[in-house]
Amino acid sequence: MNLDADVIIVGSGPGGCSAAYFLRARGCRVLILEQKKLPRYKTCAGGVPDAGLDLFPFSFDRVIEQKIRRFSCVFGPNTVTMDVPDRTLSMVMRDRFDQFLLEHSRAEVGEQSRVTGLTQDEHKVVISTARGKTFRARYLIGADGHNSRVAAVTGLGNGRRNSLALQAETTVDRDILQSFQGRLLAGFNVLPSGYYWIFPKSDHLSVGIGALKPGKQPLRKILQEQMARFDIDLSKSRTRAYPLPVFSGLAKVHSGRVLLVGDAAGLVDPYTGEGIRHALFSGMAAAETILAGNIQNYTRRIQDEIAGDLLWAKRLAGFFYARQHLSFHYLLRNRCIFQAMLKTVTNQKTYKKAIFNWPLYLLHLFNRQPLDPPQS
Ligand SMILES: Cc1cc2nc3c(=O)[nH]c(=O)nc-3n(C[C@H](O)[C@H](O)[C@H](O)COP(=O)(O)OP(=O)(O)OC[C@H]3O[C@@H](n4cnc5c(N)ncnc54)[C@H](O)[C@@H]3O)c2cc1C
Repeated sequence: MNLDADVIIVGSGPGGCSAAYFLRARGCRVLILEQKKLPRYKTCAGGVPDAGLDLFPFSFDRVIEQKIRRFSCVFGPNTVTMDVPDRTLSMVMRDRFDQFLLEHSRAEVGEQSRVTGLTQDEHKVVISTARGKTFRARYLIGADGHNSRVAAVTGLGNGRRNSLALQAETTVDRDILQSFQGRLLAGFNVLPSGYYWIFPKSDHLSVGIGALKPGKQPLRKILQEQMARFDIDLSKSRTRAYPLPVFSGLAKVHSGRVLLVGDAAGLVDPYTGEGIRHALFSGMAAAETILAGNIQNYTRRIQDEIAGDLLWAKRLAGFFYARQHLSFHYLLRNRCIFQAMLKTVTNQKTYKKAIFNWPLYLLHLFNRQPLDPPQS
C-alpha cells in the first residue's frame, strides 16, 4: 500500500506535537498537517503544569518565561496570597512552546494545510485538504482543537461544550510587572462560573477572563474593569476572544483508525479551564495505543486516566462557582484544601481523592490563610 505516513496528525498544538514526539521516538513516519503558518500565536494564558512537561525526557527551560511561586486569589476587596511549591506551574508563550515541542518531535510538517475531509476503511485513512491535496496513512490523530473538523467528520467530539475566554498580552510599568514576578492571580465572583487572571511573562502580563459555562456576560467590559483595579490599562491592548471547549461528559474519542486528543477530545478541565496537560498526556496515550496496536482501548484509557476524573472536576465546579463567597473563605483559604488542589495539578492526587478527603478538611476548618493587608 502506498502511504504518505504511518500516522497523520491534524494540528500542531501540544496534543498533536506530543503524539508526534512519542510516535517518532519509536521510528514511526509522522506527517503533521497544520492550517496556520508556523510558529503561530495561540490565545492562551500559557500556564503549563510541570507534571505535563515531565512526560518528556528533555528540558523546557529554553521556553519557560517564569516559574510560579505564589498564587493570589481575589474576591471583592479581599485578596489572599499563598506559596506554591517548586515545580508546580510554568509560564510559557504558546507560539514558542508549541514550536519547541514540534521541533523536538522531528515530524514532517505541512503548514498552511487545512484538513477538510477524511474517509477510512479497514486498512487506511485518506485525508483531503482545502488546497485539493490528498494524503494516506494507517492512522489519523485529530489534534485540531476546539472546532475539530476530524471530530465532526467522524461523528465524535460529543464530550465538550464550547464556552468563551478572552485574553490580552499587555505591557505594563516596571513596578507592576515586578509585583507579578513569579505570582499568578485569579479573581472570582465576577461571573456565574469562571474567573479572570493575570499570568506573568518575562516582559509583559497575559491577562484574561474565562467563562466556564456559556452565557451572555460582557466579558470584555468585566475584564477591563477588573484590570483597572491593578492599574492595568487595556485600552491599547488587543483583546482576543477564543472558544474554550470545556469537558462536559464521557464520550467516545476514537472511531476505526481515528483518535482524538486534547481540546478536540474535550479534555479542558471544567473547574480551572486548564487543557495543556491533558493535551500532552492524551497525545502520548494516543501514540502508545497506536504503537501497541490496540486502538480499540483508547477511549477506555482516556476515560480511566483523564475524563473519569474530569467528571469530578465538573461536580466540584458546580459546587464552587454556585457558592463563591463560601468557596473563597472556606475552600481556597483553607490551607489543607489549597494543598490538595495543588496536588491535582501536579498529578499527585485525583479530584475524586481530593473531594473524598472532606472529613480531613473539617478538622482544618479554621486553619485559614489570613487575608493580605489592604493595598494603599
Ligand atoms: C484564553 C485561553 C486561556 C487558556 N489558558 C490556559 C492555561 O493557562 N493553561 C492551560 O493548560 N490551558 C489553557 N487554555 C486551554 C489550552 O489553550 C488548550 O487546552 C490547548 O491549546 C489544547 O491543545 P490542543 O493541542 O488540543 O489544541 P490547540 O492548541 O488548539 O491546537 C490545535 C491546532 O490545530 C490546528 N487546526 C485546527 N483545525 C485544523 C484543520 N482543519 N486542519 C489543520 N489544522 C487545524 C490549529 O491551527 C491549531 O494549531 C486556555 C484557553 C484559552 C482560550
